Amino acid sequence: MNRAASDTIAAVATAPGVGGVGIVRLSGPAAAAIARTLCGRQALRPRHAHHVRFLDADGEALDDGIVLLFQAPASYTGEDVVELQGHGNPVLLQALVARCCALGARMARPGEFTERAFLNGRLDLAQAEAVADLVAAGDLTAARAARRSLEGRFSHRVEALADELLAIRVHAEAAIDFADEPLETLGGAQLVARLQRARADLAALLGDAERGRRLRDGLHAVIVGPPNAGKSSLLNALAGSERAIVTDVAGTTRDLLRETVHVDGAELVLVDTAGLRDAGDTIEREGMRRARDELGRAGLAIAVVDARDPDAGRAAVAADLDGVPQVLWLHNKADLLPADAPPLPDGALRVSATTGAGMAALHARLRALVVGDASGEGEFTARARHVDALRRAQRGLEAAAAALDAEALDLAAESLRDAHHALGDITRRVDADALLGHIFSRFCIGK
Ligand code: GDP
Ligand code: ZN
Repeated sequence: MNRAASDTIAAVATAPGVGGVGIVRLSGPAAAAIARTLCGRQALRPRHAHHVRFLDADGEALDDGIVLLFQAPASYTGEDVVELQGHGNPVLLQALVARCCALGARMARPGEFTERAFLNGRLDLAQAEAVADLVAAGDLTAARAARRSLEGRFSHRVEALADELLAIRVHAEAAIDFADEPLETLGGAQLVARLQRARADLAALLGDAERGRRLRDGLHAVIVGPPNAGKSSLLNALAGSERAIVTDVAGTTRDLLRETVHVDGAELVLVDTAGLRDAGDTIEREGMRRARDELGRAGLAIAVVDARDPDAGRAAVAADLDGVPQVLWLHNKADLLPADAPPLPDGALRVSATTGAGMAALHARLRALVVGDASGEGEFTARARHVDALRRAQRGLEAAAAALDAEALDLAAESLRDAHHALGDITRRVDADALLGHIFSRFCIGK
C-alpha cells in the first residue's frame, strides 16, 4: 500500500528542553526544497552531512548546524526526509519549525512521522507500535524486547501463521465446492492435521505475546498483609527509595501508595495497602475499601506476613485473596527468626526487608511471575490489542476445528475467515481507520 501524502510536516524531534543538540525533522514532497531555501543552498546531496547556516526570512542566520537529506523511499517515513541538527535550544528549534512552516510545511501531529512510515508500508502496525514502546521502555530489557518487535520478530510470526490460515481457508473453500463428496476424499484428514498444527502454533504465539504484554505494561501487583508485617518496608526495599511511611504504629499506611518498580527487566506496579482488617475509623475504612478495589484488578498479590507467626498472618488475609490470579507469600522479618525455624510452605519465600536477606531470590521470583522463565533472548513486546486479536483468532480456530469434526464445512470456513482476519488486525497492512488515530496520537511529537 502506498498512500503518498501531499503535504510536508515539520516538528522538533528531540526531547523538550535544553540539550547539546536539537533536531528538527521534515517529511514530505516539499522537504528537500524547504531545506534548500532554509540553508541557502542550490542542492543537497542525499545522505551527506552538510554544515550550513539555517537562514531566517531576512537572510540572517538563526543557527548553524548539520542538514541531512534522506530521499524517498529510503527514509524513515518513505518520503523525502530532512533532518536539521542545530543547537539544542528550544527557542531556536521552534523558530526553525516556524520557518519551515513559512516555507510550506505544517506542524506534525504526535506520531505523524511513524504514521506515514506505516501508511507507506515501511512498518506494519505492530512495528509502528513497537517504535512507541521502544521510546517509552523503562529499562534495557523492555527496550531490547521492543527493538525485536520493531525488527519484526512478532510480526513475522503473526504473518507466517496468517499465511498458513489462508492456505487452510483455500483448502476448506475448495472442499465446499465439492460438497457432494465425502470430506475424506477431499483431503479432510490433512485439513484437520493442518488446523491442529496451526492451533498449536497460535497457542505458543499467544503465550509469548502475553509475556510480551506484561513486559510492556508491567504486572499490577498489590502488597497485602496484616499491620506491621513490613509491607511498606518491603515496597521501599523493592523501589529502592523511601516512599512509603514505615512506623511501628499499626495502620500507618492509610492511603494507597503506588510505585512502579523494575525488577530485572520486569515492570511491577506495586500498591501498598492499609492492612485488610476491621478498621476503626472512617479514614481506615476508606483505605480498606480502596485496597479491596485494587485487589480486584490485580494480577498478583504479594502477601506479607511476619515470619515469626505466619499462620496468624495467613489466616488474617487469606479471605481477601479469593479471585486474585496469583499469590506470592512472603515471610518477612526473617532476621528475627531463630536458627531452627520451621520449613517454609511450598512456593513461599523468606525475606528481610530491613537486612535485604532473600531479596535476590524475591527479584528472580517476581521476574518469573511477570515475564516467565524465558532467558530474555526471544522476548518481544506486545500490547493488549495484540493479545486480544490472538485470542479472537484462537476462538475462531477452535470453532473451525469443532465444525470440521461435525463435517460442517461452511461453518468451518467462516470461523477460519474470522481467525484469519483477527490476525490481520495485528499487523494491519490494509486500511486506516479510527484505530490508527488512536494508536498514533499517543506518540510524542516528532516521532
Ligand atoms: P506495614 O504496616 O506492614 O507496612 O509494616 P512497616 O513496613 O511499616 O513495618 C512495621 C515495623 O516492622 C517497622 O518498625 C519496620 O522497621 C519493621 N520491619 C519491617 N520489615 C522488617 C524486617 O525484615 N526485619 C525487622 N527486624 N523489622 C522489620
Ligand atoms: Zn505500611
